[in-house]
Amino acid sequence: MHRLTLAEIARGLAAKEFSAEELTGALLARIQRLDPQLNSFISVTPELALSQAKAADARRAAGETGALLGAPIGHKDLFCTEGVLTSCGSKILHNFKAPYDATVVARLKAAGTVTLGKLNMDEFAMGSSNESSHYGAVKNPWDPQRVPGGSSGGSAAAVAARLLPAATGTDTGGSIRQPAAFTNLTGIKPTYGRVSRWGMIAYASSLDQGGPLARSAEDCALLLGGMAGFDPKDSTCVDQPVDDYLAALQRPLSGLRVGLPKEYFGAGLDARIADATLAVVEVLKTLGATVKDISLPNMQHAIPAYYVIAPAEASSNLSRFDGVRFGYRCENPHNLEDLYKRSRSEGFGAEVQRRIMVGTYALSAGYYDAYYLKAQKIRRLIKNDFVAAFAEVDVILGPTTPNPAWKLGEKNDDPVAQYLEDIYTITANLAGIPGLSMPAGFVDGLPVGVQLLAPYFQEGRLLNVAHQYQLASDWHTQAPAGF
Ligand code: GLN
Repeated sequence: MHRLTLAEIARGLAAKEFSAEELTGALLARIQRLDPQLNSFISVTPELALSQAKAADARRAAGETGALLGAPIGHKDLFCTEGVLTSCGSKILHNFKAPYDATVVARLKAAGTVTLGKLNMDEFAMGSSNESSHYGAVKNPWDPQRVPGGSSGGSAAAVAARLLPAATGTDTGGSIRQPAAFTNLTGIKPTYGRVSRWGMIAYASSLDQGGPLARSAEDCALLLGGMAGFDPKDSTCVDQPVDDYLAALQRPLSGLRVGLPKEYFGAGLDARIADATLAVVEVLKTLGATVKDISLPNMQHAIPAYYVIAPAEASSNLSRFDGVRFGYRCENPHNLEDLYKRSRSEGFGAEVQRRIMVGTYALSAGYYDAYYLKAQKIRRLIKNDFVAAFAEVDVILGPTTPNPAWKLGEKNDDPVAQYLEDIYTITANLAGIPGLSMPAGFVDGLPVGVQLLAPYFQEGRLLNVAHQYQLASDWHTQAPAGF
């Protein structure tokens, strides 16, 4: 049963081949048996899962249908989940049981999904390797010596290992797409404002966006359909109808204009990943696409701009974790200042502290214009690059990452080396456009991802291209040995 995709589960439940309760029981047993090898869960929630599964079975028996009714999923541990530990991968929230559900959690719950647990992540979603989690690193099921990517590394490892069919993630600079690429999954970061951020613990508010990770574009379409939509509780959520993503999958690709940015194929890219990416282009051509070389001239400035803006916003967002109202508090504080200082220095890990310091510095009087304001100007230039490119092409295609998954520990002493790995993903967050990563082959047995980018609110187009490619390829069906 663990091999079934969300779409297959929907058909099996509708045909009464199995119940949601049976499926949930089987997956919980599998998580118990296999997750110790991966550490992909921070919390497993068997009681919640079994009660939701029984409720889904009862709703179905009463005549309800719905593609997500009884679908088992997990949530990245920064989505507030009522009554359940929501740690954000941090010691500072080690005891925080959310008093309410995030909008994403509430919507998926109302659709009848079953929550198997909360998934491991880089602390406060800062990282590309899942090694900054207070709850320990996550291992890549394709090679346990390697990272699964981050920051949604637990979501990616669990779905890739068939512990559950799909999971939520968030993407501030690539945290859905990069772990999807490292673990042979499909993952989509929607347009900024497409999915509510209410109840999603903030990292960098102008960049964060929730989305699904799954084993196919079809499953991403199913899950995104359940997550997306206007939410009056999030003032940056856009009041625009949600497309029918499942219907969008079926469109033929004839006449699709694919742009290949020359900056995506320059120095630093593993030549074998370049080859895999170009092989995808050849398949799309046989499906009717035309290809055009394009340029995104400001891409070279994206990493410095992102690594000013994201820490600046984080330094402000994380000021609420002060040891007073909730979360970790140091022992025996001498006075209020000591309580703040020690709670924060004991509660936050090294990477989070580094970013708070960088962000506070970049926002401070005298430096604001030189760093934050300048980074915001670069952000506009990057957005303009995309607007110009999308006047000529329908989607932009390139590699998701310059290299395949690296070894655990390999980039820990050099944060900048890790930041540079985000080069292809962060521009979509800076511009706010949607991006998707899909499986495109293997290099030395490690998965390779190809990224597709589209204009604002064209999630349907991304899912369409990925689905049509997946009908013509079978990379996405490969499972890691032993899982
Ligand atoms: N690797 C990037 C960072 O560390 C992106 C993380 C994310 O998308 N949450 O900030």
